[in-house]
Amino acid sequence: MKDTDPPSYPPTPTSQHSLQEFDDHELFVIDEESAGLLSQVDRDVEQVKPYQHRNSTTLDSRTLLRRLAFLVSFILLGAFVVPSIFNSSIPRKQLVCDTFDNRKLRSNGTHMYKKSSIIVSIDGLRYVSPLTEYTWLLIWACIRRADYLDRGLTPHLLAISKDGLRAKSMKPVFPTLTFPNHWALMTGLYAESHGIVANNFWDPHTGNEFHYNKIESCWNSTWWYGEPMWETAEKAGIRTANLMWPGPPTTSTGASSTYFVPWQDKIPMKVKHDKIMQWIDMPMHERPQFIMAYEPSLDQAGHSKGPTSDLVNQVLAEVDQFAKDLHDSLEARNLTDIFDLVFVSDHGMTDTSNPEWIFIDDILEEGFELIEHEDGWPAMGLRFSPGTNVSHYLNVLRNAAHLSNGKFDVYTHETMPERWHFAHNDRIAPIYVVPRMGYALTNRIENSTGMSKGNHGYDNDEPSMQAMFVAHGPFASVLKTIHGASVSKGSMLSHFLSRPNKGWHSTSNEVYVMDTFENVEVYNLMMKLLGIEAHAAKTNGTAGFWDKYF
Ligand SMILES: [Zn+2]
Repeated sequence: MKDTDPPSYPPTPTSQHSLQEFDDHELFVIDEESAGLLSQVDRDVEQVKPYQHRNSTTLDSRTLLRRLAFLVSFILLGAFVVPSIFNSSIPRKQLVCDTFDNRKLRSNGTHMYKKSSIIVSIDGLRYVSPLTEYTWLLIWACIRRADYLDRGLTPHLLAISKDGLRAKSMKPVFPTLTFPNHWALMTGLYAESHGIVANNFWDPHTGNEFHYNKIESCWNSTWWYGEPMWETAEKAGIRTANLMWPGPPTTSTGASSTYFVPWQDKIPMKVKHDKIMQWIDMPMHERPQFIMAYEPSLDQAGHSKGPTSDLVNQVLAEVDQFAKDLHDSLEARNLTDIFDLVFVSDHGMTDTSNPEWIFIDDILEEGFELIEHEDGWPAMGLRFSPGTNVSHYLNVLRNAAHLSNGKFDVYTHETMPERWHFAHNDRIAPIYVVPRMGYALTNRIENSTGMSKGNHGYDNDEPSMQAMFVAHGPFASVLKTIHGASVSKGSMLSHFLSRPNKGWHSTSNEVYVMDTFENVEVYNLMMKLLGIEAHAAKTNGTAGFWDKYF
């Protein structure tokens, strides 16, 4: 039951510190001071009631101030609203330079390159802090909602996002676990569609069990539905390289990436950086145009010591250096206008060092012994042995959930929240017990054994489960250009009034902060970046989601 993510997915086949490679195969500018002044103006103007006696000839200083403020707001209206009416559409064709024409080769000064992309997953990089972990400074937490990137430990990731863009957060799929989310990122599909419904689960059709750290299931293509972006790219004639991204080396159609480095634990990020650069430095006819890379150390630290631990902070700094090294190496090669560099994470992390335990065996009593398969963690998918009065035990669980007053929920396929997209697949157990934040499921035998100090897998709407999206490169540069033009063309007042970026770190004029979006949109982004939309598979992403940015 206590199968948290990594530390050891799947087996570690080779020596440390070396890689075994298989060849072949919204936008808002906030001026806090101005916005504050404007809101004060609104309040003062409203307080001047028509029936109040006021000396119409002697203007005291307050009145003068009000009138001046009103005049300023009137000028602002004229300056920003009117132009925004007449300039509601931005002539984007003038803004988008030819960096997106993937048919052309580009020179970095010494060599020719095709338009290329790198996507790097920093496992478990939590993006939004939950208030509960900072109750000692609620006001601080309310103001500064972004989390891991707001600890002063990731200056380079922030600098990269300042040059490019980031999202307020990226929403993972449910369950918020490593394998379901890495495959959602790769395929653009929810878990019910891509088939990896947890890190461990049982398939009633085959009678086999999937387990994330068993190579016989991880590398068995029949578990993995959908078309990963590297398969689409290969179909379109693009060489791809996969550095440990969770998933099978070959899909059920027989497709594989051109270069593949299987999972090994404890590989230094410097080694991964060098491998990526080795690929980039290949002659053009061998060079991969699309590179995927996976880094688990931050997730491992979060599980081991908790999301607010010194260890997490230490690894955050190391991950930041990794991001800097990648960016610097591209810059040193004069490739930042050729390579898009996208950093994502799969889910967040919550503190589980002192959870309130829910004992499933106490609830089910004799029914606990009748559980035949138990899927997932920290949620629990239950399958009872044949002949069990399942409806009875379902009622027992539902009553217990009701009496628990919000500690956990019990769902069937019919009652699962639609927003989870987690029902239409027989691999999803017919009964799912889902703890809420701050609670953990266990039994009297296991008790708290194996419970880590940090965990994820909870409701994907929870702030602490949110993931990261930071991008840099020609795509991000064009976005910034559109952003800058949009602001200068007259939508600033609406930005002042809506103040959508209030509380987000580094929301200076230069930073483009996208609204939160679901990670199933990333597949179509990479298709656009690689210029292979015509080859794209069907996904759960939103048609045209990225069009406004291109
Ligand atoms: Zn993960």
